[in-house]
Amino acid sequence: MHAPVAVSDLVRCHACPVRYYYERNESYPESDRYAVCKQISYHLGTALDPDAIWQEVLAVRSAIDLELRSFLDTCIAACNRREWKPADQTDVRVMSEKYGIIGMVDRVGIDGAFSIIRTAGAPPYGTYAADRLRIASCAICLHEMTGNEVTGGFVEYIPDGVSRFHTVQPRDRRQFLSTLRRVRSIHDGEVPHHPLNAPCRRCRYRERCEHDGGRRLSDLM
Ligand code: SF4
Repeated sequence: MHAPVAVSDLVRCHACPVRYYYERNESYPESDRYAVCKQISYHLGTALDPDAIWQEVLAVRSAIDLELRSFLDTCIAACNRREWKPADQTDVRVMSEKYGIIGMVDRVGIDGAFSIIRTAGAPPYGTYAADRLRIASCAICLHEMTGNEVTGGFVEYIPDGVSRFHTVQPRDRRQFLSTLRRVRSIHDGEVPHHPLNAPCRRCRYRERCEHDGGRRLSDLM
């Protein structure tokens, strides 16, 4: 019996299986930006009081860099440019026994629509590939948990105050299945193949990756 795979693991492995393999035993502390965006998200759909939310951030994360206060103000100014639906439930744990995955949905509305929040700015249109994978994974879990059809979910880019609905497509489900297989194979001890474009310029594993066999596509041709 396999241990459940976290949706966050799917996303990291999707970004780079080799990096995921290198970091497989590391833990991921949440960032200061996440602490700010997350706390704002609890208040979406109600009046956003910057001072009150900042006090909550300090209560949750007392060692936060105080410079983040201006980030909070920027996020709130952006979020105040549109209307938000308040959440009926927050931090809802989701799971699929069929696929053996677990995750967390940040907000669920009274109508059952779900959202995940992001600490990044929004792309010019649509959603990032990693976010589509998150939405597909959570939709699969919620469908199994509720028995209802779940066509997609919202991605809420808090720094830009943007909320975009993504409808899960067949290609998202294919991506989900192939990434889940890859995560399981790494958990089973397999070493992933290096992507054709490895090593990548800004990765902190660049040297190790090159040493382990990563070759740029241009070197092979
Ligand atoms: S250099 Fe590129 S391929 Fe290698 S681990 Fe980093 S992100 Fe992955």
